[in-house]
Amino acid sequence: MLDRGVHTRGGVITERNSELCTVRVRLPAGVISPDQLRGLADTADTLGIKELQLTVRQTIELPHMDPGRLEEAAGLLAENRTPVGASMDEVVNITACPGLDRCMYANIAPIPLARELDCRLFGKEMPIKIRISISGCPNACTRPPMNEIGVVGKIRPIRNPGMCTGCGTCVEYCKEGALTIKGGVVTMDEDACVECGTCIRSCPFQIIGSGGVRYSVTVGGQRGRHPKTGKDLVSVDSPEKVIEVVEKLVYRVYRRAWSGRLLSQQLDDIGFEEFAREIREQYRDNPGTVA
Ligand code: SF4
Ligand code: SF4
Ligand code: SF4
Repeated sequence: MLDRGVHTRGGVITERNSELCTVRVRLPAGVISPDQLRGLADTADTLGIKELQLTVRQTIELPHMDPGRLEEAAGLLAENRTPVGASMDEVVNITACPGLDRCMYANIAPIPLARELDCRLFGKEMPIKIRISISGCPNACTRPPMNEIGVVGKIRPIRNPGMCTGCGTCVEYCKEGALTIKGGVVTMDEDACVECGTCIRSCPFQIIGSGGVRYSVTVGGQRGRHPKTGKDLVSVDSPEKVIEVVEKLVYRVYRRAWSGRLLSQQLDDIGFEEFAREIREQYRDNPGTVA
């Protein structure tokens, strides 16, 4: 008999041919071990699945599955530590870029943060779908601002004009045109700076200081037919505070949003300014908090 519990999980998606379904797995940050990858291949073979597909949310789907074998599939996937995932009104697979682990532009480590948030929030039933994405720098490769909750790692540069040689290296590296040499020393247009931190790393004399790593949190982004950039909520200075902020956000959305409309469409009704003010006040003493 069909296990209704498995069948109704968000990670089980009815296909165009409604006699078949696709199963999406839970894979925080899209990171998978060789053993888990082999396990997925073995599971596909056992279930007679010929192809798997990678998704934009950094997970893997097993298409064209016989719904009568869902219980068996769920057991095999759980044993493989790639359990049935989420795709409905819940907290879905959390995406993250490689960050400090591998990328030369990174300011933060998104993968451990994604794993911790996954442990705490993945699959939580919500009135609407909640996508969370984390990127290590403003290049935003995983598009955090286009998720309901986005986190981007930043570093604010601090000039030290007294020691600057005017060599211009940092000017060459700044893609925003925020740095120029005037009077033999570097000057900065703070409005143009996106706090990527590249100039800090580029100065051959280590003259540009760091204002410290910050985690910039946005809320209410969306992709799809009418893409929107999320609104700036707060910037905090540690992964622990990011976790606190994201949990508060998820809890607030759980209590105050309703189904049928994207978070971006509801923020005005929910009262974004009040919604943001409460969280901002809690992190007021944090360097970089949006005023
Ligand atoms: S977002 Fe930044 S840190 Fe992450 S992969 Fe892209 S360039 Fe690297
Ligand atoms: S932090 Fe990035 S954007 Fe800002 S001045 Fe330095 S290189 Fe330019
Ligand atoms: S790279 Fe360093 S020394 Fe050269 S202009 Fe920039 S801040 Fe000055």
